[in-house]
Amino acid sequence: MAKGVNADTESSRKVIRLSKSCVGEAEKRAVMGVLDREFFGMGAEVKQFEEALSEFFGRPAVCVVNGTAALHLALQSCGIGRGDEVLVPSLTYVASFQAISATGAKPVACDVDPKTLVLDWQDAEQRITPNTRAVMPVHYAGDVGELDGIYSFARMNGLRVIEDAAHAFGTTYHGRRVGSFGEVACFSFDGIKNITSGEGGCVVTDDEAVLQRVRDARLLGVINDTDKRYAGQRSWDFDVIEQGWRYHMSDLMAAIGLEQLQRFPEMAAMRQKLASFYDTCLTGHARIEHFAHDYEVVVPHIYVIRIHGVRDREALRSRLLELGIQTGVHYQPNHMLTFYHDSEISPLVVTDMVTSELLSLPLHPDVTKHDVRYICDQLISALD
Ligand SMILES: *Cc1c(COP(=O)(O)O)cnc(C)c1O
Repeated sequence: MAKGVNADTESSRKVIRLSKSCVGEAEKRAVMGVLDREFFGMGAEVKQFEEALSEFFGRPAVCVVNGTAALHLALQSCGIGRGDEVLVPSLTYVASFQAISATGAKPVACDVDPKTLVLDWQDAEQRITPNTRAVMPVHYAGDVGELDGIYSFARMNGLRVIEDAAHAFGTTYHGRRVGSFGEVACFSFDGIKNITSGEGGCVVTDDEAVLQRVRDARLLGVINDTDKRYAGQRSWDFDVIEQGWRYHMSDLMAAIGLEQLQRFPEMAAMRQKLASFYDTCLTGHARIEHFAHDYEVVVPHIYVIRIHGVRDREALRSRLLELGIQTGVHYQPNHMLTFYHDSEISPLVVTDMVTSELLSLPLHPDVTKHDVRYICDQLISALD
């Protein structure tokens, strides 16, 4: 993901950035407030951010240092480890795969539904072995697809479900927010996500055993250290019963997240309005397929199109960049990476077919409708 790469040089050329953080005076004031107190650890702001998120989701949320850590701890806390296999779409950020392999488990690359690019559970079913323990659906672009279907597939096969909801902060499904139902959902607050805390993430679940393990494991496994820190104390006399990590969130980050959560309704509406406007501008072009997301309920993190028969996507991307339009590719499939290569894998038909034809267009709250019109006009003329 282009996390603001070359942002400075490109913005000086007035490039419409693919994605960016959108912060204002409130975030700056909040950070200054924490700096003034000269305590940057996990204290009052993190506690408050967790409370605000728990209210948002109607379920406990535990904050961690980033979305990858949220996934890693969620998996570990569900008992996933060495010798286990986890079903996951190949078409995702490498973070999903790294989180799985970090536990010692094997990520098993699965195919996606061509209509939404989310996990195709019927394909995943073919890849179940006696070692399969969990499934990690990835809410690609903010859409969850037929999540009910994934949950019943998981129930039938006795699998845990850990949702990679990094793209889906704010999306609702059957009238309920992603994270407010289901087993375990993991969110990211990195710089370009639907809300940011600079770096950050959270695990949301009502599974008490998972919550307690995540709370401890984020603080090097020190039992009940969270309660101590929220009381402004430290644990000097403690025990550790499992592998932990230094994955807790800092007050500096939480202060940004708290402000972002306040302005989320407005930023979500912008994302939805812009994505719908892209759909309108691109409808009717023979080679451009936009994915059918319902932006009444989906809060889109990225705007992805498929360009049928595009021969040289890199040339197209360079042409668009010359015109001041930064684009992206979500994603290079993970089964093609050296570290995750598996010579025995049966073909990922849809992933292999669409991957060279996907293109992500700029989407963040500072894009304007005028920008969208310009981007679509330039894209269409570059194709024609
Ligand atoms: C951003 C992202 C993550 C990881 O979040 P970080 O906060 O960057 O660690 C995981 N999965 C997907 C699909 C993401 O887009």
